[in-house]
Amino acid sequence: MAVFKPENVEDFFEIGEVLGSGHFGQVRQVRERATGTCWAGKFLKIRKIACSRLGVDRSSVEREVEILQTLRHPNIVTLKDVFESRAEVVLILELVSGAELFDFIAEKDNLLESEAIEFMKQILEGLGFMHSKNIAHFDLKPENIMLSDKVSPNPNIKLIDFGLAHCFHQGEEYRSSSGTPQYIAPEVINSEPLSTASDMWSIGVITYILLSGLSPFQGETDEDTLKNVIAMKYEFFERYFSTTSSMAKDFILKLLVKNPKDRMTAEECLLHPWIKPITRKQVANRNRSSINMKNFKKFNARRKWKMSFNMVLMCNRLVQLKLLYKGRSDPDPLQVRPLYSTQIRAHSHLAFVPCPSTIH
Ligand code: ATP
Repeated sequence: MAVFKPENVEDFFEIGEVLGSGHFGQVRQVRERATGTCWAGKFLKIRKIACSRLGVDRSSVEREVEILQTLRHPNIVTLKDVFESRAEVVLILELVSGAELFDFIAEKDNLLESEAIEFMKQILEGLGFMHSKNIAHFDLKPENIMLSDKVSPNPNIKLIDFGLAHCFHQGEEYRSSSGTPQYIAPEVINSEPLSTASDMWSIGVITYILLSGLSPFQGETDEDTLKNVIAMKYEFFERYFSTTSSMAKDFILKLLVKNPKDRMTAEECLLHPWIKPITRKQVANRNRSSINMKNFKKFNARRKWKMSFNMVLMCNRLVQLKLLYKGRSDPDPLQVRPLYSTQIRAHSHLAFVPCPSTIH
């Protein structure tokens, strides 16, 4: 069992700027008073009443902490400590100071497949390590793939956000309906028993986007997206994949497979010729092929815009709740689960986000 320290986190850490926000709280830079070292503090509001929609279950936080404690790998964020007060738990995490991988790539003028593969390799190594411990992430998406730092020309991948991760025990059947429609595997939507193979589907989607700037199953609404996933409705449009190697397409084809048992594992991916070429011809193919940077930049701009839109929506909702709860002694409105839950069923009301014409 993970130890949650009952001490006040502020006695040990100075709380600094906000680094990001999630469903149940904020992530802030914190500075260790004793050493001056900077970390990331993930502040999670804990649900006080079992049936309440406010905050996160303590048991979910315990699960996230136990999983993070199991995972020590250069491509996975490290957990240092956990503090607990009456209303919140604070995870002290390794500070990941680089950008999201997609933002880093979108800054470039062009990128060869061979360069993109160096990042893919690290993602697969982190994932392979998790899977070897029977742990699945279940929320792989561009927002959760970050880079270690801003300064080095070749920063390392760091996988973050283990809030939906699950450790499989022998003979256990696990189902979940959580995730993000664009990246979710068909077995999640169909409420079938899950395995680490669901992460491999998400890797297929992420690779497809990385190469083309197109999201394979994205529909007008979340419902449409989920329908497209179930129908396996995707193809490699020549217009978007004209600079993509056939090996890269083969890599994706072996991941976007309906039956989870037929998908490549992370280990198998690392041996696929697109990642680990054997012949000279394969090496040359990777160096000749590049990602569709023009469209990738457009995709990333739209993605960031949607994230900001969702954040505004969430803030508006908090303001409304504050007004609603004004004068009442019960729930603290700031602990209310924000509007955009990752539960796929609750996603639909956010479905169509109009983007400004400038980034169309
Ligand atoms: P979600 O609602 O997406 O499930 P969450 O509540 O589980 O999110 P995280 O995804 O872990 O929270 O963190 C939210 C954001 O905070 C991230 O998108 C990232 O920008 C930032 N962040 C998280 N962990 C770190 C870290 N270790 N170092 C730097 N920034 C971080």
